[in-house]
Amino acid sequence: MKYDILLKDIDYLRPDMTVAKGCTIAILDGKIAGIFDPGGTEENCAKPEADTVITGSRLFAMPGITDAHIHTSQQLLRGRLLDEKPVIWKRVNVPFESRLTEESSALSASLAALEMIRCGTTSFVDAGGKYPEVFAEVYEQAGMRGRLSVFTNDNPYAPETLRAASPEAGVARQRKLKQFLDGRQNGMLRPIYSVTVPTAVSEEMYREMLAAAAEDGVPFETHMNEYSSEVSELLERYGERPFVWLAKEGLIPPEMLAVHSLHLTPEEMEIVAARKIKVAHCPFSNSGKGVPKTPDMLPRGISCGFGSDGAGHGGLDIFREIRLFRCLMNAVRGLENADPNVMPAETLLWMATQGGAAALFMEDQKPGRIKEGAAADIIVLDMDAPHLWPTQNILHTIVESATGQDVRHSVIGGRLVMKDREMLTLDQERIRADAEAAFQKEPFLNHWV
Ligand SMILES: [Zn+2]
Repeated sequence: MKYDILLKDIDYLRPDMTVAKGCTIAILDGKIAGIFDPGGTEENCAKPEADTVITGSRLFAMPGITDAHIHTSQQLLRGRLLDEKPVIWKRVNVPFESRLTEESSALSASLAALEMIRCGTTSFVDAGGKYPEVFAEVYEQAGMRGRLSVFTNDNPYAPETLRAASPEAGVARQRKLKQFLDGRQNGMLRPIYSVTVPTAVSEEMYREMLAAAAEDGVPFETHMNEYSSEVSELLERYGERPFVWLAKEGLIPPEMLAVHSLHLTPEEMEIVAARKIKVAHCPFSNSGKGVPKTPDMLPRGISCGFGSDGAGHGGLDIFREIRLFRCLMNAVRGLENADPNVMPAETLLWMATQGGAAALFMEDQKPGRIKEGAAADIIVLDMDAPHLWPTQNILHTIVESATGQDVRHSVIGGRLVMKDREMLTLDQERIRADAEAAFQKEPFLNHWV
């Protein structure tokens, strides 16, 4: 049998978070077509062939990581947000985004795709931008999988170039993006309808967008329970906490991603669990806002993944988010019960892969796991480095010490997009030169205030 790509004689992370040794993973037509185990049946031991064969000692394959919450529009904000006082998105991020042109949006997406692939991220959910069609062109060229949305806000504080004129106009704009994405790009890039935050848009806008998502069969995303002030605002307005109000009003769609979900009561957790709402935590960004109750959420069956919240919040390397989250969980939850195992390595790696992939709502393609029939989104870590080897437990070492820089190869949808850290779909030097030129040409990118 001839395949497109073989990952040969390689250890890999199984969907149950155990490690398989010395297997060969065969990729064909965008999918994992077979996994050949040296201890398997005679058929399994057959020698598969392929044009592209990746092999080497001390390589470790794992599912590509999903960044379940990225702001492609904020890629050029790197280094701008660290010591800003809250609430930064209203004061800094949104005004910055309102100034982006199609050209600087394309550059943003190129930089984001480059950074994501180089640090092991193969798929993403974007929070919504002004020119998502421009993002789509870039992500398609890069070969990435993801959900894209239009930045939607009709609040008078939103800058004019980003403000939806009416709820109908906001919905129509999302539908235009859906039309653009439908039927192209092999289903790798799909729409997700969004509003920024329920408290920051009109109630009419929220209701109309939700109705449109349900009618069109498109998932819906919004930031939820991120700042305690936002929770208080909703309490003041409706007398209910956010998820309780949404549930009572019938405002939870069949497929919903609730980004952050930091300040949750047990009642809200029950609603999130019962309605199968997906959650994305962004540990670096969140550490200034609150600590999520993930150890109480996961046992309820709530699917939690990781997001970067964009390059302005510590970059896009999810390996760093994993490590920070582990520290945070131990400090806040582990110490009180002397339980160092409050967030074990297997759970963290599950969140980064299957937990994040659930937020893509692409179960027809089964991203986020290495198994036969699943989408071939696989990264290969080079464990042959002084900070990774030798190790007594490879999963512990990945959580403790690996970074995105240790990702050597990346396959997305069966296409090799990085080999030996060389980018195969993007011109890194050109992107770098364009970014430097843009900072010179458009002063607002650098000193926008
Ligand atoms: Zn965000």
